[in-house]
Amino acid sequence: MQRSSGLYEHLEARTAPGVLYEKGPGGALRCSACAHRCVLGEGSRGSCGVRRHLDGELRVPHGYVARRYVRSVESNTIFHVLPGARALTFGMFGCDLRCPYCHNANLSQALRDGPSSEVPFDVEAEDLVQEAVQADCRVLCAAYNEPMIAAEWVRAVFSVAKRRGLVTAVISDGNSTPEALAFLRPVTDVFRVDLKGFREDQYRVLGGRLAPVLDSIREARRLGYWVEVVTLVVPELNAETAGLRELGATLRAIDPSMPWHLNAFMPRYRLSRLASPPSSLLLDVAGAAYAGGSKFVYVGNLARTAELAHTRCPRCHELLIRRHDYRTLELRLSGAACHRCSEPIAGLFAT
Ligand code: SF4
Repeated sequence: MQRSSGLYEHLEARTAPGVLYEKGPGGALRCSACAHRCVLGEGSRGSCGVRRHLDGELRVPHGYVARRYVRSVESNTIFHVLPGARALTFGMFGCDLRCPYCHNANLSQALRDGPSSEVPFDVEAEDLVQEAVQADCRVLCAAYNEPMIAAEWVRAVFSVAKRRGLVTAVISDGNSTPEALAFLRPVTDVFRVDLKGFREDQYRVLGGRLAPVLDSIREARRLGYWVEVVTLVVPELNAETAGLRELGATLRAIDPSMPWHLNAFMPRYRLSRLASPPSSLLLDVAGAAYAGGSKFVYVGNLARTAELAHTRCPRCHELLIRRHDYRTLELRLSGAACHRCSEPIAGLFAT
């Protein structure tokens, strides 16, 4: 594996003492920011590459971003939170997983693949939030790489954001822990999670495990996060009707009102040789989910399924939110309810 030593040096200059860890035998530190729970001897880094045991303490990312954009909140595949709002989304370097189709590999995998064309930009939490406010954003999102590996910095930024009245969201791979979820919850409203497969062997390809992701979805709901789930349907990985149908049933058992986004894979990174999956597969799985009682299922990234980006009332089927290309075009809610039959629509529709 090629190592990006220059980037390591840049990032090590931008750290602070972390709190998501416990002391183990022999002076080792056990990190609890993600489900890998790395045990780190003096000088060693976790498999994310950004948390390091140094001089008896855990040093964690702090005080920088690698990328930030202002876009619609829907661009993060968040559909039931302030539809049409602008969101500032920021990302950093490193990841606890190594998905071969990552959309942001130049950030998430830069420490493994190096060298990267991207660099860290120093920023204070207050200044980042001020940027969002000045850009008329109502939502602040941590995304692009895995935010939970920098949970302490995310919490610092989100603490300021909550004081300024913003809604806050982490866009996570879900390979999380109860400790990290509880740590962020006081300042975080939304847990948008990627559920990337339905079997452990699929998750082994990505460098993780299925069980902690499902546990994190349940725990996030229990803690009161608003949760939306995205499953990217990837050929040669998880594009199987029966397994995806079963995954829909698993999510429905947690909460039938929790939105489930079935997004079609697009050729990227190490899987650029593969084509997108057939729309019939996603339509079949979405149809089965609705028939089973799921209330909000969306299909994305396929031109022929544009109608399945809209929100309809689960009771009277009235069109309530019309979207195109990850933007809200029309909002016909009455508060947080159907304007026609008054059925409550789950989500965060007002601040
Ligand atoms: S956040 Fe990093 S150091 Fe901590 S457990 Fe996960 S991979 Fe290991």
